Amino acid sequence: MSIFQKFKSMLGSQPTPAQPVEQKAAVTTTKAEALKLIAPLSGEVVSITESPDPVFAQKMVGDGVAINPTNDTVVAPCDGVITQCHASRHAVSVKSDSGVEILIHVGVDTVTLKGEGFTAKVKEGDRVKVGQPLIQFDSAVVGPKVPTLQTAVLITTGESISCIPSGSVVAAGKDSVFMTGEGKIEAPAPVKKDTRPSVTVSEEIVIRNPQGLHARPTATLIKIIRDFNSEVTLKNLNTGNEGPAKSLTSVMSLQLLLGTPVNVTVEGPDAKEALKAVVEGFKSGLGEEVADVSATTDGSANEDDIDENEAPLLGLATEDDNSLPGVKAAPGMAIGQLVHQTNEVPEFNEQGGSATEELKQLDNAIAKANEALGKLIDTMNADGMGSHSEVFIAHQQLLDDPALRDNAKETIDKGKSAAFAWHASYEAEAYALSKLDDPMLAARAADVQDVGLRVLRQLLNIETAAAQLPDNTILVLDDIAPSEVVTLDRKRVVGLCTLEGGATSHAAILSASMGIPYLVSVPASIREQADGTPAILDAGKSRIRLHPSQQEIKSCEDKRKASAAARAAALKVAHEKAITKDGHHMEVVANIGSQEDAEKALELGAEGVGLLRSEFLYMERVSEPSVAEQTKVYEGILGAMGKDRPVIIRTMDVGGDKPLAYLPLPKEENPFLGERGVRIGINRPAILRKQVRAILKAAHAGSARIMFPMISSLNEFRAVKALVREEQEKLGVKDVEIGIMIEVPSAALLADQFAKEVDFFSIGTNDLTQYTLAVDRGHPRLASMVDGLHPAVLRLIAMTAQAANREGKWAGICGSLGSDPQAVAILTGLGVKELSVSVPVLPEVKAKVRELNYADCKKLAAKALEQDSAEAVRKLAV
Ligand code: PEP
Ligand code: MG
Repeated sequence: MSIFQKFKSMLGSQPTPAQPVEQKAAVTTTKAEALKLIAPLSGEVVSITESPDPVFAQKMVGDGVAINPTNDTVVAPCDGVITQCHASRHAVSVKSDSGVEILIHVGVDTVTLKGEGFTAKVKEGDRVKVGQPLIQFDSAVVGPKVPTLQTAVLITTGESISCIPSGSVVAAGKDSVFMTGEGKIEAPAPVKKDTRPSVTVSEEIVIRNPQGLHARPTATLIKIIRDFNSEVTLKNLNTGNEGPAKSLTSVMSLQLLLGTPVNVTVEGPDAKEALKAVVEGFKSGLGEEVADVSATTDGSANEDDIDENEAPLLGLATEDDNSLPGVKAAPGMAIGQLVHQTNEVPEFNEQGGSATEELKQLDNAIAKANEALGKLIDTMNADGMGSHSEVFIAHQQLLDDPALRDNAKETIDKGKSAAFAWHASYEAEAYALSKLDDPMLAARAADVQDVGLRVLRQLLNIETAAAQLPDNTILVLDDIAPSEVVTLDRKRVVGLCTLEGGATSHAAILSASMGIPYLVSVPASIREQADGTPAILDAGKSRIRLHPSQQEIKSCEDKRKASAAARAAALKVAHEKAITKDGHHMEVVANIGSQEDAEKALELGAEGVGLLRSEFLYMERVSEPSVAEQTKVYEGILGAMGKDRPVIIRTMDVGGDKPLAYLPLPKEENPFLGERGVRIGINRPAILRKQVRAILKAAHAGSARIMFPMISSLNEFRAVKALVREEQEKLGVKDVEIGIMIEVPSAALLADQFAKEVDFFSIGTNDLTQYTLAVDRGHPRLASMVDGLHPAVLRLIAMTAQAANREGKWAGICGSLGSDPQAVAILTGLGVKELSVSVPVLPEVKAKVRELNYADCKKLAAKALEQDSAEAVRKLAV
């Protein structure tokens, strides 16, 4: 069974992918006649094996050449029919009348631009003549956004070809680039070498084109140069960078902006004439109207007293020799040693030994990787993380698939090493998957790469760091996905820090619920520290201390002891209510994501569940759970909490930074502002209806409430409420309260209107903060700005609580702010009735409430609302 079939069977009956790779083998061709293919673009020809894209370099798509383009119109390399014009317009295939198919793929990673900067001149099924324009691209738009514009020209039907020598310069629509069959193909006549002295422009030329030297003026410049036999080089006098003027990409990369001073060097037989023409071209604006400017040093204006390296105006935490700043993503303090992990593909040799030996090694590595996955699944089950292990079961199934191994074997038989062959095999499969139109299958590419890397590491005897983590590991990663957090070995990993990631990201939420202190946005310089470097990660102080002294370790241990003692004291009374000194009851409930969390929450005194993030139950599933499966899970959680402890089940909240494996969403420019939360349920009601039905069916087991995420308008709430009512009617289930999350400013601002129609509000401060302050909650460099104690956020919380109270409803907090000890008093004073907090901090939050006086809290809250920054509020709250 192929990988596609395997995924399809895992996903149920999915539509056939538009272009499965197997189709490649099914294409029949007539190989009798040799066919000469004409260059689809002008420029220098490079061997395809030097393509920066390994899929092209390793000829996984087919043999061919690469061209560094100096123009921007792709033309037909032969007469034929357009068999494919990619939706993103960056690639086109032409099939000759003799059945040879040629793929022209402009640039690397251009697919990600989704057509931006590309114009298709043809459509599938069109007949084209050699030299006819197929695609046009604007290099000024495309060039800066992709690693290269180097274009692959490939035969995808498997014919053997002979190519023009590397280094030849070809003209689009004129020179041949390769021919099928055995014939030799000559390079175009080289430009005669010239020995005459070079001419250099001594005076500067200032770029006067308003948009700088973008594609159009550059194309004009190239046209001018083509009339001469000399080499023209441009130099950016601000940066010192230089490059050939005949190459569009080279000129673009020089970043010649308005005001940039350049000089021109011309070498060759007609250097003088060429220089004159070029200088005149610049003076006349190379076909554009030009501005009257003098040279600048920064390319934008005339100010010369600007310090380019001026420090940011708003203070970011500074680094000292022994401590690095970070942003708290999960509370706590860890004393341990740094262990670095990366997902880089390790280096390996291309050439192999005997094929039998290489294949044996590969089989061994596959078996070992399979075994390691089995152990991981067992550990996750034992740690109560079994609900997240499905993705690894799918990985095991991938390893059982003969397709990956068979493809690798073919490469091994050609003399390549097992590592090279395996890497090529899984990358090719991942690439083919990623190109499929069906987003569900395309999203599986990451799984193939993940499991592929696992085997590769086995082959190269690079045990994954996870398999050999030392005790007291403080793990250092670039970033971490929620699914990776749940697989962390909690016995060894005492702390986590990442260079990227956000403080209220879902990875952070999981880390907090697992009790692992976590810092995000740690400077990259941490990578300079060796594995084993002793460190103290202090999330409360937002820093990681390297090489701490014995004294520092002792003081940290003392603090930990003190907080352990406070925790032990809080634990003793964890099951008592959280009542302030003056008799005000604050309900303290839990944020959970699984049955295991529910059980733990009960142990730690939760008075209920304020937020069941239902999407966490299914995050790793590769197929949608049935109503019966969902009902069973909800029954388990509701049953565990019992009739007296309400459980708020939030309907699936995917999108943003939360992917759902069985529901991959199309890529969006702004995922947090896109199809997210309730919008998915509104647009695909079947998913929502199944979930609502399952909750209602499970309601008998406990006390269920339904809550909708990301509500921004009343009509959304009315639509989903109507759906619940329909299901209630059908099932005869009444008495299930319906509430909404207040996490979009519009919902807070209209809280008075919502309050008339909902049963309750729960304020999601993570999102409410990101949307109010317009800061991505997962942004690595802006993480310190995402502070829910910002007075603007507090004012929205106050409005919501007051609106609820006026209508006899209630408002709770379920965002991370509720778990922040500094926020408890202010939130209490703002009139919030319930704090839903991460499981480990339940006893401490209750203890904190018991220290308070409600009357004082109200005064504090009123003051907080008058502050002008989160920092000022935090000062008040100490
Ligand atoms: C929130 O936004 O505060 C919230 C609780 O929801 P989530 O973190 O799951 O988006
Ligand atoms: Mg949210």
